[in-house]
Amino acid sequence: MKILVANLGSTSFKYRLFEMTNEQVLARGGVERIGSVESRAFVESAGVREELTVQAKDHAVAVRLCLAQLADPKRACLRDPSELAAIGFKAVHAKDVTGVQRVDERVLQAMEEYADVAPAHNPPYIAAMRLLNQQLPQIPLVAAFETGFHETIPDAHRYYAVPLEWAEQHGIKRWGFHGASHRYIAGRASELLRKPDAKIISCHLGGSSSLCAIQAGKSVANSLGMSPQTGLPHNNRVGDFDVFALPALLRGTGKSLEQLLDDLANRSGLQGLSGFNDLRDIEAAAAKGEPRAELALSVFVGAVRHYLGAYLVILGGADAIVFTGGIGENSVRMRESICQNLEWFGIQLDSVRNAVAKGESTIHSENSRVQLWIMPTNEELIVARQAKSLLERK
Ligand code: ADP
Repeated sequence: MKILVANLGSTSFKYRLFEMTNEQVLARGGVERIGSVESRAFVESAGVREELTVQAKDHAVAVRLCLAQLADPKRACLRDPSELAAIGFKAVHAKDVTGVQRVDERVLQAMEEYADVAPAHNPPYIAAMRLLNQQLPQIPLVAAFETGFHETIPDAHRYYAVPLEWAEQHGIKRWGFHGASHRYIAGRASELLRKPDAKIISCHLGGSSSLCAIQAGKSVANSLGMSPQTGLPHNNRVGDFDVFALPALLRGTGKSLEQLLDDLANRSGLQGLSGFNDLRDIEAAAAKGEPRAELALSVFVGAVRHYLGAYLVILGGADAIVFTGGIGENSVRMRESICQNLEWFGIQLDSVRNAVAKGESTIHSENSRVQLWIMPTNEELIVARQAKSLLERK
């Protein structure tokens, strides 16, 4: 069974093609600058990369083009485009429509209802999914929702203290996100620790970031809440924020509520504090003594440690803390700062190991009771597995 896992942006489409009998990636590729006169398509299979300029006016044209490239006899990743069993999507938010779903009108309408709750994520997915359903109706589309892994979060960590009917009628509760990544880490960590009931704190730190407390493979808390804007500061999204700051901001700035929400979703987080979007630039600026950069790093580290402490209490300790995502996997400085002075909790980082670690590896010292790991996540594999299980159920 061959499944294509798609990653969509408003003007981009990237994919990995999986052969599910052995879970191998047969090819990866995509199209960038969709909608412009000169879109760029690239495809990489069996170690060979090819790039070409194409005309892809929309996502449906881009997908057709990619399928034709994959079926090209010189590549032969697909016998023909109809061999594709499904396109899987890491979809973000559709309220109580969660888990893994065939993309139909009911699912699209539920995503639409929350388009303004997940403004960076839902709109491009809805637009592309609708177009693909219309133009390539022979290919099943499957959405694996980020909220699905968090269905096991108990009420104590799910409910906000608001009028109860808001939760029931409007879905105002902590849904949790980054489900594909935390699900992968839950499975991989319990395999590596050889402990199915392990207590794991998964730290997905990247363009957007969250911590997840995992017990026996199940999510029991996630720092992302009602929307993917909450919890830790993200690259340009705010993280936790007091809504009663809004009246003061409305008065003080003269901006509308929509403009302020746009600032919180696009010009806040690490970028709002430091002026830079990418952690590498922030670390470089901090190394030159730039105070705003230092402030952004310390706020980020403070927020990670805040949730780390909370999750150690929720789980009653941890067998392992796992770092993943672009920052978690690559930033020596962030891992070092997050783990500082936690000896009392049995957490001791080995600075030398931390500095040289690459890929899946341990970074704790001999005396650490809690194991510290770097694990590259694999969200696409989780989406492919979920899509496969849905197709086999039907
Ligand atoms: P996304 O959440 O968008 O999938 P990633 O998980 O790929 O993003 O993380 C992207 C972020 O990882 C970048 O914004 C950058 O800040 C950070 N990053 C990547 N490589 C490094 C590195 N070597 N050192 C520090 N930060 C890094």
